[in-house]
Amino acid sequence: MATTVDAHNHVGVRHGESQTGDELIARMDAAGVDRACVFPFVEGVFSNDDVDDALQGHEDRLIPFLAVNPWSQQEAVAEVHRRADKGYRGVKLHPTLHGYHLSDLGLVGPVLDAIRERELLIIAHGASDLRNAPPEFALAATAYPEIPFLMAHSGTFWSHGQAIRLAADIPNLYLETARVPIFEASESVRLLGPEKVIWGTDSPYVNYTMEFQKMQQVADSDAARALVLGGNLLRLLRMD
Ligand SMILES: [Zn+2]
Repeated sequence: MATTVDAHNHVGVRHGESQTGDELIARMDAAGVDRACVFPFVEGVFSNDDVDDALQGHEDRLIPFLAVNPWSQQEAVAEVHRRADKGYRGVKLHPTLHGYHLSDLGLVGPVLDAIRERELLIIAHGASDLRNAPPEFALAATAYPEIPFLMAHSGTFWSHGQAIRLAADIPNLYLETARVPIFEASESVRLLGPEKVIWGTDSPYVNYTMEFQKMQQVADSDAARALVLGGNLLRLLRMD
């Protein structure tokens, strides 16, 4: 079977939740998953050092992503460069929790410039929220066509149809399936094709194995499963 890669996992500790690298690896092993992208919990004060800790001994299976808050603009840009130097491959943004619009290029632009320069990809929270509903992704992704944008949660719930329409038109916009209901996830694959859909779980918030089995059902051929469950992401990360 083709390599499976989970795009969306939190490591470290926050109020009420935690996950170590060892715990994530155990969940992956139980489900039969090969690799996973990891970034911190982003509520409140957070540190990308949590990712370094989780990676210890799992460098062959966990793929490091950093998180930044663009309101600390200069520090966020410096952090992108620092972590890219260490081999980090992607950036997690959470406009709703951090209080900005993804398309506010006056604020986010310098961070996006650094991400483009270092050839990283972006995974951003993308439910039907004011600050990062699908049109916010469309504006940012159109302004930065070189950066792959993964819309975590695929605009679910109320904005899912809009997410599909925009992802169909914008080449560098992809829908990520964490916690997306199975009907909506299968509509994404059916209407966009498996090339534009990327599997992620949002662990530790989920039943890990169930999120994996959901997408094995939804991507209904070996070729589609190979793309959705890892092939697309490895290609975007230039790791294929
Ligand atoms: Zn998440």
